[in-house]
Amino acid sequence: MKGLAMLKIGEIGWIEKENPKCGPMDAICKPIALAPCTSDVHTVWEGAIGERENMILGHEAVGEIVEVGNLVKDFKVGDKVIVPAITPDWNSIEAQNGFPMHSGGMLAGWKFSNFKDGVFSEYFHVNDADGNLALLPEGVDPAAACMLSDMMPTGFHGAELADIQYGDSVLVIGIGPVGLMAVAGANLKGASHLYAVGSRPNCIEIAKEYGATDIINYKEGSIVEQIMSKTKGKGVDKVIIAGGTVDTFAEAVTVLKPGGIIGNINYLGEGEFVKIPRLEWGVGMGHKTIVGGLMLGGRLRMEKLVSLLETSKIDTSKLVTHTFQGFDKLEEALLLMKDKPRDLIKPVVLI
Ligand code: NDP
Ligand code: ZN
Repeated sequence: MKGLAMLKIGEIGWIEKENPKCGPMDAICKPIALAPCTSDVHTVWEGAIGERENMILGHEAVGEIVEVGNLVKDFKVGDKVIVPAITPDWNSIEAQNGFPMHSGGMLAGWKFSNFKDGVFSEYFHVNDADGNLALLPEGVDPAAACMLSDMMPTGFHGAELADIQYGDSVLVIGIGPVGLMAVAGANLKGASHLYAVGSRPNCIEIAKEYGATDIINYKEGSIVEQIMSKTKGKGVDKVIIAGGTVDTFAEAVTVLKPGGIIGNINYLGEGEFVKIPRLEWGVGMGHKTIVGGLMLGGRLRMEKLVSLLETSKIDTSKLVTHTFQGFDKLEEALLLMKDKPRDLIKPVVLI
């Protein structure tokens, strides 16, 4: 089979590999819709997870099942399915402890294009099909559903990590596709003032449609000054970080009220340390919580999120700015994600 792979750090190319083997609880799928991710860019061009040779990329897919293992109960060949980026081992100790995304070790629920070949392939393997796949409902657009693999669950997890309550004032730093979904998630959870940080005009437009009440352009002055001015020096109840760098934490801690929570979903690809300013953190006694987490994967999460599409509570198709037709266009779509033209939010390749 053919797949688009990371040949080594800084280099991608098409390679041929043997078709994946299906275990008794697993499924083999062929792609229907695929999306490149900022994480693929970090992986290849920044070496964020270390060296990988000839590893097929990609972790965002809607697919069709071509083979199932003999212990799979709920899925059959021909089913169209949403495939989460995170596919935990549901019988692991970590999953029993409430952290399936870390099954088998920290971040090890992230298998595609990390520990095994990803989905940018003619065929790909999904472990624990009953635990990880969700049926694509009739009438849900595969390109919009592809945003459920990673963008929506990650952005929504930011709203969960920050524990948004009705009426909370919330700052979302970064409004790429992940941050936009964090805005939508925070809005659904009851945020009142919802400050969104970004500069790209189409992202700003969609952030407002998803519920942002104020836009902060980080290129026009510091986030801290702008938030403090808008909140009359009080700061915000919660912060979700979906963009920026290791230095962004200093700004987030500074604008957070005592008792507040920072939920980080940003992938920190460089820098040795996260900066926590001592005084602004209440000299260690400010009750300002910082928590960061990988999205929750699995079937239940996918089924619940897709029900928000079915009931038109959320429209993820707004994220899809560029659509390509045909498997061979994957390379172009990934390079587009790397170059990030200002009008790009998310490219999707339909097969
Ligand atoms: P994008 O690059 O599309 O968006 C980044 C956003 O951050 C943009 O709005 C950008 O603004 C803003 N930004 C950039 N620099 C700064 C800065 N210095 N201060 C404040 N804001 C800034 O990324 P994605 O939305 O695709 O992904 C966001 C992050 O989430 C990535 O690091 C990605 O790897 C990570 N991720 C994490 C996952 C998880 O499971 N935790 C899963 C998937 C992704 P502008 O409008 O100017 O571009
Ligand atoms: Zn992704």
